Amino acid sequence: MILPGSTIGILGGGQLGRMLAIAAAQLGYRAHVYAPEAEQPAADVAFAATSAGYEDKAALEAFAAQVDVVTCEFENVPAKCLALLAARVPVRPGPRAFAIAQDRLAEKQFVAGLGGKPAQHAAVDDAETLAAALARLGTPAILKTRRFGYDGKGQVRIERPAEAPAALAELGGAALVLEAQVPFASEFSILVARGMDGSEVHYPPIANRHESGILVESVAPAPRVPAAHVEEAVALVIRIADALDYVGVLACEFFATATGPVFNEMAPRVHNSGHWTIEGAETSQFEQHIRAIAGLPLGSPALRVPVVSMRNILGNEVAGAHAFLADPHARLHLYGKREAAPGRKMGHVTFLRA
Ligand code: AMP
Repeated sequence: MILPGSTIGILGGGQLGRMLAIAAAQLGYRAHVYAPEAEQPAADVAFAATSAGYEDKAALEAFAAQVDVVTCEFENVPAKCLALLAARVPVRPGPRAFAIAQDRLAEKQFVAGLGGKPAQHAAVDDAETLAAALARLGTPAILKTRRFGYDGKGQVRIERPAEAPAALAELGGAALVLEAQVPFASEFSILVARGMDGSEVHYPPIANRHESGILVESVAPAPRVPAAHVEEAVALVIRIADALDYVGVLACEFFATATGPVFNEMAPRVHNSGHWTIEGAETSQFEQHIRAIAGLPLGSPALRVPVVSMRNILGNEVAGAHAFLADPHARLHLYGKREAAPGRKMGHVTFLRA
């Protein structure tokens, strides 16, 4: 057990790290944030911050010597970095969850092996394998990089086979996977927290709306997803967590279809679709993650109100975001980012009703 008063190392300095650091502080922990970027929203609220690369051995060793446990707010931390840290200090969740989540193909195969249903897919390396994959899966289809994709980046929709060369050129030589387009009615996510002792809790299903691959809005509990489909998805996420001996919050995204949940992807960390839990659940996803990695008992994931919704504040919307406060049921979170690039997640607002 990592007792309050200890220091929690967080790899990644974004808004997820910021909200983790706040939750850690509430429980009497100190957060030490480690990230390459000069601007780190998490560092504003942390006890200590290191700005260094994930390949910087000396900086990582110094970081490991100053923290009692390490966790990640960002899933693309290089495997070597996690291995170096794991040899010195507990890393929770462990490196295997990252190895799988960093590769869309490995992730689909792993989940299928546990009885999950990912979209129909095929590995693609060049024009020939893409042509064969398109012939088998049909169009429309989505070509994605196996690694380092996020917020709709690293993926291209292919409407007709003639678009294949352009799609391939756009993704520029990376290892790829082609996915059949899933005819979904809606998208939802399931967040499970798993403790050191294997205990598990899950939040109500969350309906998510994306625009251009970026999450814009979440509602919990998800309306319109049949209870049997939610149960099937929760059971799968629990099997994933158990198979990985996972510790912390694990998020999985699903497409809701007529025939049941289709697995899209997993994130071995707290998740944007769970931000509403700060005010809307008895225990927030951030506190839950800190409790889990510290070996403390998990808290109740129950809703505090019948319906909660969360809307992201993207790019320039941040300039007028304070106007949300005219609604007395709105709770505003701004991440303190200086540059409001288009589509960048600048904050979110939670409404304790739909
Ligand atoms: P991803 O980064 O894989 O989560 O993709 C971002 C968004 O693109 C998803 O949330 C969906 O809205 C859409 N999308 C991705 N893959 C598929 C698919 N195979 N079928 C239909 N929509 C998809």
